[in-house]
Amino acid sequence: MTKLYAIYGASGCGRSLMPVARQQLARTSDASEIVFIDDALESVAEVNGHRAMNYPTFLSESASKKYVQIAIANSRVREKIALRLEADGISLWSIYANNIVLMDQANIAMGAALSPFVSITSNIKIGKCFHANLYSYVEHDCVIGDFVTFAPGVKCNGNIHIHDHAYIGAGAMIKQGTPDQPLVIGAGAVVGMGAVVTKSVPAGATVVGNPARIVTKK
Ligand code: UDP
Repeated sequence: MTKLYAIYGASGCGRSLMPVARQQLARTSDASEIVFIDDALESVAEVNGHRAMNYPTFLSESASKKYVQIAIANSRVREKIALRLEADGISLWSIYANNIVLMDQANIAMGAALSPFVSITSNIKIGKCFHANLYSYVEHDCVIGDFVTFAPGVKCNGNIHIHDHAYIGAGAMIKQGTPDQPLVIGAGAVVGMGAVVTKSVPAGATVVGNPARIVTKK
């Protein structure tokens, strides 16, 4: 029996990541099919040339092994789906674009999606289901938690720690920390588009502007 790969989510994020998924398989000359999973679908449809189906239908497909990239920007939804996949014995699938830059000792957990033009430099640790959208970078000695999301063009400089479920908006820039005092973006924090973050952000806070300031705190 063959392997079956899937992109979970057939909206914006999923349709942008499907070509990255194809690159990932082409690199290893794996000719397996890649389908979309989307729970809004009732019957098997076609999206951008790929079969698309809901999760129960995907489960009923026969394959020797199934791999899924959860291509949904909302990190809470990614976590919920990751738990379901784990319970069903389905592997998280990492997909890396062909032109990413990956330097030394970058330890990236399963389920990552690295879009075109992403750079991950040296001595970096990244948790489960990380999304780094187009042109984002992560500089040396950063530690990134689980289910963290970078919109396009995020500039994450050296010695920054980003905790679980943080969301960093498009073009945001985060000032580097130091080895003994990293700049910390707390769990579930939201950094607004284009923000210039010069100091640590508390868990659950939303910051915007230059220099970034808190607008709401849960
Ligand atoms: N979705 C799903 N199962 C879920 C939650 C979401 O299949 O449990 C799908 C949803 O139907 C939609 C996509 O995931 O097609 C999320 O798309 P959205 O436009 O919200 O955001 P994106 O993550 O693509 O930017």
